[in-house]
Amino acid sequence: MARYTGAVCRLCRREGKKLFLKGERCYSGKCAIARRSYAPGQHGQSRKKSSEYGLQLRAKQQARRYYGVLENQFRHYFELAEKVKEGKTGENLLAILESRFDNVIYRLGWASSRAEARQLIVHKHFSINGKKVNIPSFLVKTGDVITINEKSHSCIKIKSVLEANGSRPVPKWLEVSNEKLEAKMVAMPSREDIDLDVEETLIVELYSK
Ligand code: SF4
Repeated sequence: MARYTGAVCRLCRREGKKLFLKGERCYSGKCAIARRSYAPGQHGQSRKKSSEYGLQLRAKQQARRYYGVLENQFRHYFELAEKVKEGKTGENLLAILESRFDNVIYRLGWASSRAEARQLIVHKHFSINGKKVNIPSFLVKTGDVITINEKSHSCIKIKSVLEANGSRPVPKWLEVSNEKLEAKMVAMPSREDIDLDVEETLIVELYSK
């Protein structure tokens, strides 16, 4: 599973906004954006106004980094979104990204960040429709039932994650029971369900060149 392994706060500073990549720290005064809200590097404080291409590129990078997806995979999701017959390509792209298994686990409050969700998934803590799934990029579908595996119910890591995040609000396209440790995806997320502050039309423009 290829992934970015550099300093994640640097990514937020580069994009000039919080991408919430570090769990609890993102909500604290230790957040790097709260302390230094300019881009990293020698010229970070003197960057000029972006061109049209620059804006499109930044929108794509923000979405890609928010979901922790590498370039090739992101392009693959765009191609999938283009094939969807209904709706707008940009909104379909975001819906596909939201339905990634790691994002779903994060949205359910079963992980404090998408990176932590990926780690828990790889360690086989969850099942979909009764089958163990250890692929963070697996795309969850409407009607799929997600459970925390029985063996993991007593796992200290799972217990502490649920304690820390279990009360986080869950989006309306997901239903969760933290008593049964079971959840269901009841709909595909729509644009208003997705809190990513990015103009997805810019991404479509970039890839349509
Ligand atoms: Fe981004 Fe979170 Fe680091 Fe803040 S603490 S810069 S939101 S990853």
